[in-house]
Amino acid sequence: MSFASLGLNAAILKAVEKQGYDTPSAIQAQAIPAVLAGQDVMAAAQTGTGKTAGFTLPILELLSKGSRAQRGQVRALVLTPTRELAAQVQESVATYGVNLPLKSAVVFGGVSIIPQLAALRNGVDILVATPGRLLDLCQQKAISFNKLEILVLDEADRMLDMGFIRDIKKVLALLPAQRQNLMFSATFSDEIRELAKGLVNNPVEISVTPRNATANTVTQCVYPLDKTRKSMALIELINTNDWKQVLVFSRTKHGANRLAKSLDAANIKAAAIHGNKSQTARTKALADFKAGTVQVMVATDIAARGIDIDQLPFVVNFDLPNVPEDYVHRIGRTGRAGATGQAVSLVGLEEVKLLHDIERLIKRTIERKQLPGFEAPFTIPEAGSRSGGHKANSVKKPNPNRSKHAQQANTAQGDKPARQYDSRQQARSKDGQPQGANKPKAAGNRAEAIANGNKPPQRNRPPRRSGTGGSANSGTPASKGGVNPYANAKVKS
Ligand code: AMP
Repeated sequence: MSFASLGLNAAILKAVEKQGYDTPSAIQAQAIPAVLAGQDVMAAAQTGTGKTAGFTLPILELLSKGSRAQRGQVRALVLTPTRELAAQVQESVATYGVNLPLKSAVVFGGVSIIPQLAALRNGVDILVATPGRLLDLCQQKAISFNKLEILVLDEADRMLDMGFIRDIKKVLALLPAQRQNLMFSATFSDEIRELAKGLVNNPVEISVTPRNATANTVTQCVYPLDKTRKSMALIELINTNDWKQVLVFSRTKHGANRLAKSLDAANIKAAAIHGNKSQTARTKALADFKAGTVQVMVATDIAARGIDIDQLPFVVNFDLPNVPEDYVHRIGRTGRAGATGQAVSLVGLEEVKLLHDIERLIKRTIERKQLPGFEAPFTIPEAGSRSGGHKANSVKKPNPNRSKHAQQANTAQGDKPARQYDSRQQARSKDGQPQGANKPKAAGNRAEAIANGNKPPQRNRPPRRSGTGGSANSGTPASKGGVNPYANAKVKS
C-alpha cells in the first residue's frame, strides 16, 4: 500500500515523501481513510506506531478543503497530556503541512502566555494544546471554538493517569456538539471506554497492538543487580557497549538528578528532565540529547512521555516503574516504526515483584543477563514461581526489614513521590571498570565520592566522549524503510 492510495493530496504526499516514508504504518493505513470519511475514530496505538501522522495527515487533508480559520477561531484541536508531546505533535503538523496554507500553533504551560495570545489572535487552523493552558486561554477569551471541526485526544490513557479528566470535561463543554472526534490511547481500559462514551460517536475502532504488547522490534533484557551498584553497572554498560544515545528512566526526580550527576562525574555527559525543571531547561536538554551533545538523558515517566527521537537505540530502566503499563510506554521509546532497539532493565531484589507484574502484563519472560563484575547475590525466577527472588547460595541473605526501613527513612527525608510513580532510589557510581569483590581501595573511594555527588579523585582515563552522540535528530528524516511494526491491525466499525 502507498500513501497516494489513501486519498491524500499532492502537497501532503510531497511532505510525506520528504520524510522518507514510503509505506503507511498499520495505524495510518486504517486511520487515514476513516478520518477522511468523516468518521469518529477510537484507536489503540502506542507511541512508535506512527499514530501522530495517522491523525495529522487526514486532518490536514480535510482542513485544506474548507475555508481558513477566522480571527480567534480554531478548526482542529489536539489535546495532549504533556508539553513535550504537544510540541512534537505541532512539529509534525508543521512538517506534513509545509506545502499547505494552513496555520498551526502550540500552547502549553510553564512558558509565557503572551506570545501564545498573539499567535491565536488571528485564528489558527490547528491548535495543539495541553489542557491546563488551554483553559487559561479560554478564560482570557483568547480562543473561540464555535467553528471547531475536529477534536483529537492524544494519549488519552495518560491524560487520565495524570488527573486531567476534569480539565478534559471542561474543555469538552466549550466545544460545539457537531464535530469529528478522534481518540488515541495506548490501551482501552474500562476508564477510557467510559470517557469515550461521552466523546466519540459510533467510532471506527482500530487496534494496532494486542493490548499491552511490546513492539517485537525491541530486544529486552534484565540485569539482576544489588541496588547500590546500579549506577556503576550502568556506567559499565554504557562504556563497554559504547552506547551513544541512551534514555534512562528513573522513578524519582531526585533519583534522576543524582544519577545524571554520577554519570557526569564518570565523564558521561548526562542531563535530567523531570517536572521540577523549567520548560526551558527541559527543551534544552531534549535538544542537546537529540543533537548528541548529551549522551544520556535521565527522565521520569511523565517528563519522558511523548519524547520522539527517531530510532532511539537504547532505553534503560534504572528503576522499574510501579505501574506495569508504564514499562510498555517506556520501551515504546525505542524500536519505533520498524527500527530495532534495546531495552535494558536494572532490577534490584526489591523490584522482583514489579518485574513479575510486567512479565504477566506483556505475557513474556524477559531474558535475564549477568554483567561481569556486577553479579547480583540473587537470581530472579520466572513470574509465577512461588518466591520473589532467589538468593545465590554462597551469599549472605539480606535482611528484608532493612530495605523496608530504608524506604521509610527515604520517605522521612521528604523525597516525596512525584505523582503516583515516584519512589526513592539510591544512585551510586564507579570509575568505568568492572568491579569484582577485590576492588582496589582507590576505585572504591572514587565511587564513594561520586555517589555523594562530589568530584571524584583524579585518575587516568581516556578523553571524554562528549559530542559523539547518536545520529538521530528530530529535524532529520529517519531511515523509514516502510516497515509496519504491527502486522495485526484490525478495524471494527
Ligand atoms: P509516533 O507513533 O507518531 O510517535 O511515530 C513514531 C515515529 O515513526 C516517528 O519518528 C515518525 O517519524 C515515524 N513514522 C511515522 N510514520 C512512518 C511511516 N509511515 N514510515 C516510517 N516511519 C514513520
